[in-house]
Amino acid sequence: MNRREFLKIATGAGAALGLPASEDTAVSSSSKMIGIQVGAISFVDEGTEKVLDVLQERACVNTLFLAVFTYGRGIAGRQIPGYPLPDHGKQEYDLNYHGGNFATPHPQYYKNTAIKPAHAPDHGNLDILAEVLPAAKKRGMKVICWMEDVFRPDLPNIEKVQERDLYGRNMETLCVNNPDYRNFFTGLVEDFARSYDIDGIMWGSERQGALSDSLGATHDTPPIDPGNVTCFCEFCQRKAKERGINVERAKQGFLELEKFVRSARSGKRPVDGHFVQFWRILLRYPELAAWEMLFTDSLRETYAALYKTVKTAKPTIPVGWHIWHNTSFNPIYRAEQDLRELSNYSDFIKVVMYNNCGGERMALYADNIGSTLYGDLSKQDLIDFNYEVMGFKERSYEQIPYTGLSADYVFRETKRTLEGVAGTNTQIWAGIDVDIPTEPNNSKRTPQSVKDAVLAAFRAGAPGVILSRKYSEMRLANLSGAGDAIRELKLSS
Ligand SMILES: [Zn+2]
Repeated sequence: MNRREFLKIATGAGAALGLPASEDTAVSSSSKMIGIQVGAISFVDEGTEKVLDVLQERACVNTLFLAVFTYGRGIAGRQIPGYPLPDHGKQEYDLNYHGGNFATPHPQYYKNTAIKPAHAPDHGNLDILAEVLPAAKKRGMKVICWMEDVFRPDLPNIEKVQERDLYGRNMETLCVNNPDYRNFFTGLVEDFARSYDIDGIMWGSERQGALSDSLGATHDTPPIDPGNVTCFCEFCQRKAKERGINVERAKQGFLELEKFVRSARSGKRPVDGHFVQFWRILLRYPELAAWEMLFTDSLRETYAALYKTVKTAKPTIPVGWHIWHNTSFNPIYRAEQDLRELSNYSDFIKVVMYNNCGGERMALYADNIGSTLYGDLSKQDLIDFNYEVMGFKERSYEQIPYTGLSADYVFRETKRTLEGVAGTNTQIWAGIDVDIPTEPNNSKRTPQSVKDAVLAAFRAGAPGVILSRKYSEMRLANLSGAGDAIRELKLSS
């Protein structure tokens, strides 16, 4: 597919979404996309019509991002055990959560993969798309299939597709360069596109390459062990060779980096300091950066393959991606999220800009990277540096876990990402967190803070917002906070 064909399709997709074709970013448009992520469990627990009533009445939702495929509880189950249940839905944890395909897999689309297309056993024979699509359509609501690449380690054949770490050990994550992985997801999106009358597909992979992972350049706790960085499987090694990367030198480099990271985390300062020592290793082993980009390019190829598959099956279905929150914390990861490049195979991009849990997460990022690359900076100096390079103006390291990031952060991220895709047909949809769990004493959402975040996204010109991560963890009053913003801006039709 050439660039012109892409553009034609993308324009068609924008029209199909009822989105403004021009670059008009005025808030007065009534065609804004107001989305929410929701899993099958909520419809099972509360009833389909009831859930749709609540979403429309409280938050003016016009688009459902229905979690149709994942083995993770994060987007498809109830509240994470141990965190308070919200004021709706069944008041118990889904300790038996399993996951899988919450619709009905059609075997003809999975012939070229070792991964079995299993129906999620969580709700008997329920096909959540068959259940929700007609009810949503009757109300004029759109349904976008939402899926992520989270798997369980106990699935048949999964060990063949798992990533291999620096020492050749299997990891739970799957390899983007393994044909079984690529073919599974192209099969899955083709299945959804051809088997159901859906309004879009959103896919996400919250991962980065081995260099960032080794340094612990993320908000994840604990960060990945530097001996467990990926991927060094046969497919990645072959692809590396094709790109002219010396695989043995790359491995040596990561072994050196592993020593550096372990030593830094144990509190030892290299003679010339952490930052200098890191650069000494990187200059000696530029293969470290090449291996990071090997992952990023391979993920982009996956995006392009999914895009092409869906467009071939049904050109009018919009296709886009969920971009991980780490794009707000780790500048290396942000560098890899080249929005202009991504726009070649994206009708929309959901950029995570969760400001409430963002404070806790920004501080966790500082803790992680502050014990490796920036081991010579105080946490406050590190945070100040990061704010400057990332374009934020937020509170201190000590404060942000308790205050969250401000609505100004949402405004700035919306502006930045809109500028990143300016002149293309790609829509930016702002990911807003509503009650994503934070530690007990850390900042919690209020209706006002949700309202402020949604107002900020629209005032910065966003054509849409996606309330995240899932309805089953959101408190109803906070959901209404989103609706208050939309009503105030007169965006609801
Ligand atoms: Zn691999």
